Amino acid sequence: MAEYDYDLFVIGAGSGGVRAARFSANAGARVAVAEDSAMGGTCVNVGCIPKKLFVYASHFHEDFADSAAYGWTVKPDSFNWRTLVENKNKEITRLNGIYERLLEGSGVTIVNGRATVVDAHTVEVAGKDYTAENILVAAGSWPNDLRYEGGEHVITSNEAFFLDELPKSVIIEGGGYIAVEFAGIFNGLGVDTTLSYRGPLIMRGFDEDIRVHLQGEMEKKGIKIKLNASFDKVEKTDNGLTVHFSDGTSQETDTVMSAIGRRPKVDGLGLEEAGVELKDNGAVVVDDYFRTTVPSIFAIGDIIDRYQLTPVALAEGMAVSKTLYRDTPSTVDYEYIPTAVFSQPPIGTVGLMEHEAREKYGDVSIFKSTFRTLKNTLTGSDEQTFMKMIVDKASDKVVGIHMVGTDAGEMTQGFAVALKAGATKAVFDSTVGIHPTSAEEFVTMREPVPEETAKAAE
Ligand code: NDP
Repeated sequence: MAEYDYDLFVIGAGSGGVRAARFSANAGARVAVAEDSAMGGTCVNVGCIPKKLFVYASHFHEDFADSAAYGWTVKPDSFNWRTLVENKNKEITRLNGIYERLLEGSGVTIVNGRATVVDAHTVEVAGKDYTAENILVAAGSWPNDLRYEGGEHVITSNEAFFLDELPKSVIIEGGGYIAVEFAGIFNGLGVDTTLSYRGPLIMRGFDEDIRVHLQGEMEKKGIKIKLNASFDKVEKTDNGLTVHFSDGTSQETDTVMSAIGRRPKVDGLGLEEAGVELKDNGAVVVDDYFRTTVPSIFAIGDIIDRYQLTPVALAEGMAVSKTLYRDTPSTVDYEYIPTAVFSQPPIGTVGLMEHEAREKYGDVSIFKSTFRTLKNTLTGSDEQTFMKMIVDKASDKVVGIHMVGTDAGEMTQGFAVALKAGATKAVFDSTVGIHPTSAEEFVTMREPVPEETAKAAE
């Protein structure tokens, strides 16, 4: 048997790579991980974590306004962008250190630099070759390239977290996760915000009612939503930037941000040369056990482009580690993956959308509720919470839960357990509510939407 430097060489110290490295090392494997940037990958450095901190920051102005109805007088508010960015940077640096210590504590060797796969058992980093029995590619994703003139003036989420100054105005292109989250952040911080989406309704891939509700709530908060137009050109002018849209209109702004999806970050990894098959968009082709077309090379996370979600990458990393070092060949169950979008208000969703449920089960009951939260009865805010439940009539199983409203992510995590366990509507009905909460609405939905109304809305 060949003698390798390591049992496992992981490329990328993001969520999935770090989890797989640690879990494998803890099982006794000799592991190295290569990273050319900060520890923790997209989620820790330019994704989930700083994004959520910015969402908190941007929500305070509503909280200050709401507090008046509860008897508080808040001094005239002022906001310092530099303070937010600096405090966020400090926290991220702390997390980078934690990741590093966790890896080292598990006995994982950290190799700094960009890795290239040389062959089935060799990785090169900064001119040095490392051999390993298995290689795990967890190099993540990168914002999609811009295909119009003036793309060099456009920032992505990578830069948005480090802007020197808060812009006065921003135009964000895209209608998905990052676009709506950043639209909420900028708008909440007082930036004149336009979200520009190429289709007729934002958040494609989510339940239609959720899309309609979120779009309406975002507009109520003052975000301008421009639909059915994409960018033709971004031009630098004396006053800033001008975006020329495909519908012939144009708009001036300080800052332009692109949030039009992320592609697998395979450039320069040497995968194809090593015999690893890639899809047209660069995604690494893997089997159910995350093995690529080269049997000793595995891949997980954004780079395989199944779900670009940190908890999914963690699950995939664990699966590879169990397969290789715990004698337990493991796959990932992708059913009932819950997700939250930290828009304002946020989305929480798990299970099937209405049209998917109708397609799969035929006969379904739809329950819906739109209401103002208790908190807002005093504040006068007209923000509306929306909840929707989809039940397969034949089995009585709840097959989809969707909401837009405060704490959607927190609520959906719990309900996801119920759906994963196969809870029926009868189980929901017999569950005692917690009063007064918004969540109790999901266990007190009694009357389905009349069939004719539900069908007409399809
Ligand atoms: P998304 O896939 O969520 O959204 C991309 C958006 O860009 C869509 O509205 C899409 O439109 C539009 N688009 C795609 N290509 C073009 C184009 N060529 N021109 C104009 N518009 C285009 O990607 P994001 O970049 O927002 O986020 C990347 C991924 O990161 C997400 O899919 C998600 O998995 C993950 N993420 C998760 C978060 C969370 O868990 N809260 C937060 C942020 C990101 P259309 O729908 O018409 O194709």
